[in-house]
Amino acid sequence: MSVRQYQPTEDFALDMDARDPLAKFRDRFFIPRAKSGEECIYLCGHSLGLQPQSAKSYLEQELLDWAQLGVEGHFHAKNPWMPYHRLLTDQTAALVGAKPAEVVVMNSLTVNLHLMMTSFYRPTAQRHKVLVERGAFPSDQYAVKSQIQFHGFDPHASLIELTPREGEFCLRDENIESLIERQGESIALILLGGVNYATGQALDMAEITKAGHRKGCIVAFDLAHAAGNVPLHLHDWGPDFAVWCSYKYLNGGPGCVAGCFVHERHSQQMHLPRLAGWWGHEEKIRFQMGPDFHPMTGAEGWQLSNPPILAMAPLRASMAIFSEAGMECLRAKSVDLTGYMEFLLKEKKSHKFSVVTPAEEGRRGAQLSIRLPKQGHAICDELAGVGVIGDWREPDTYRVAAVPLYNSYHDVYRFVQRFSAALG
Ligand SMILES: *Cc1c(COP(=O)(O)O)cnc(C)c1O
Repeated sequence: MSVRQYQPTEDFALDMDARDPLAKFRDRFFIPRAKSGEECIYLCGHSLGLQPQSAKSYLEQELLDWAQLGVEGHFHAKNPWMPYHRLLTDQTAALVGAKPAEVVVMNSLTVNLHLMMTSFYRPTAQRHKVLVERGAFPSDQYAVKSQIQFHGFDPHASLIELTPREGEFCLRDENIESLIERQGESIALILLGGVNYATGQALDMAEITKAGHRKGCIVAFDLAHAAGNVPLHLHDWGPDFAVWCSYKYLNGGPGCVAGCFVHERHSQQMHLPRLAGWWGHEEKIRFQMGPDFHPMTGAEGWQLSNPPILAMAPLRASMAIFSEAGMECLRAKSVDLTGYMEFLLKEKKSHKFSVVTPAEEGRRGAQLSIRLPKQGHAICDELAGVGVIGDWREPDTYRVAAVPLYNSYHDVYRFVQRFSAALG
């Protein structure tokens, strides 16, 4: 709906579902069930996406080829394992708005972050700082601090944290840009969550990239909460690198193989320092087994190991669904679904909670972060008992995401009913 005319009735929710062209995709996923046998209201796709029903057959194909072919599967499997990771390249590139040579699916998010920082965080005495957001996801904080220390610098002097204004929860563009303007010359790397995991705020990645590059900084994004959630145009926005995981909005399964973007401008920079492995070695001569490393061009040149086929198979199932549904349609539904959740929450006019996620649609993805200063954890547990799966982040945040691939308007309606009942 371009002009939103939400109504707070169950009939409205059911009617929206009846008219939703994406509603059929819900049946492509397994929806967990509560103890009562009823389908859960699963609002945790920001943490672990649901299993596509087709994942099993993708996986079984590889198990079958392994059983029947052994090592020959590398070349003679139905989907030969040697180039298997490339089966994900075009869809991944389309999803993040990149050229195929700019993306690769490999490792896990934090590993990719380290690999990228090894190449792109090159601190000097004048320019050694890393700019992150305050309260960045812990793994990112640990990775960044350890990289700073690894290079012989001190996180106290080299880590700068963007902090919301007093009394606010989200960052303001002008504050981000003025900090880059003031301190940019000492910043080696800007590394921010494209969508913040705690608040759900989506940053203006294009503008931040421009501001950082004007000051000569490397600009990078952690897209764990952005990939498969909000539209991305990485090539055009131009960050130097980006990393994301595939088990949240991308439904690739627990611990699934992650994604990595390296901008084209770095694709031919063979001299960049990097931690090398044989799968990043020039493919044509990889099996000559020579002693010297010659990296492949593009993002694939950062690969280390031969890819985990069994972890990639379910991701292929999910990416096929993404391609079929189309990110544009998914985003349109997502905006509407999250808007509807916010509308219903506001209707409750309760002072017991507040939504900290920005209200503008361009400033958020599917997730709403609901601040519950009192007894929030208990409320979260109570909701889990009645089949509502969201998650709790200390000290006071309840995170819920209505995911357009498998959540319905009726899910959102029933969630707000139960949430309101749990608040008492
Ligand atoms: C989920 C998430 C991670 C998880 O890292 P893994 O290496 O996949 O365990 C890291 N950073 C952010 C911002 C996340 O949201």
